[in-house]
Amino acid sequence: MKYILDVDTGIDDVLAITYLLGSKVEVLGLTTVFGNNLLKHTTKNTLDLLNLLDHNEIPVYKGESCPIDKDTYVLRHPDGGVHGQNGIGNVELVASSKDVEEISAADFIAKSAEKYGEELTCIFVGPLTNLAKAIEKNKEAMKLVHIYIMGGALTIEGNVTKYAEANIYADPLAAKYVFDSEVGLNIIGLDVTHQTLITSNDLHEIAKINNEKSNKLLQIADYYFQREFSNGKGGALHDPLAVEAALNPNIITNWFKTNLTVVTEGEAIGRTIGNMACLEKKEKHVNYALEVDSNSFIKKFVETIKEEVK
Ligand code: CA
Repeated sequence: MKYILDVDTGIDDVLAITYLLGSKVEVLGLTTVFGNNLLKHTTKNTLDLLNLLDHNEIPVYKGESCPIDKDTYVLRHPDGGVHGQNGIGNVELVASSKDVEEISAADFIAKSAEKYGEELTCIFVGPLTNLAKAIEKNKEAMKLVHIYIMGGALTIEGNVTKYAEANIYADPLAAKYVFDSEVGLNIIGLDVTHQTLITSNDLHEIAKINNEKSNKLLQIADYYFQREFSNGKGGALHDPLAVEAALNPNIITNWFKTNLTVVTEGEAIGRTIGNMACLEKKEKHVNYALEVDSNSFIKKFVETIKEEVK
């Protein structure tokens, strides 16, 4: 299997990228999108992280800079919110000397789908804009690809509004296009990522490595998790869990087969909800994750990150 990971780096994206690289699978490339920060920052953060991890051989493809119906993207939190001003907890990484590839993220995804079909898995852990564009380019090829998405909330409340999760909320029209496209989707929403909590003890295990890579990674992670830890809670591993589900679908112990759509206006904008138009259809396009073996994953996550940064 070959993998493409689409990111809006982003602190949990940093952890997701490191986890995927540490899993020693064939990564064709990383694609970037706006989201946790502006595209120029999410792209720079992605290149600089690959440089830190000695993975400059992985190509990076720049994607969409704003939602499909807009000309610009305005950050919800001008100070960067939980991801910090620069998107990676205000930690400075050495600037990569590499640049992005010539073709766009959506072109790269669609062309890879044409070339590899069912031998390809694409994981999306930011707004779904690049995925919508790739489906628009070649829906039949994208139907063959294994697609995993971190996004949505079905049985619990959202994290931006009561209704909406951040990745879906950031581009609800793109998300609706993706969900309505009848392309098969595996969805890792807040329902399971909020069950997947890392503790300060787990991070302490990684800190024992105590080198440049582990120290930078922990500085970045600390910025994100400090609020949860200070409340005596663990921190949710949103994006890394989507990577794990793609590598090992059995980590999800309850997949719910359904058809979903996305609310695109009003108070509930960004809500993922059952698609009324498809209620009687036997064919279900969405596998929605409802339960996860979080203990196994957290253990594997800590070991894989330690191995990758040592
Ligand atoms: Ca993300």
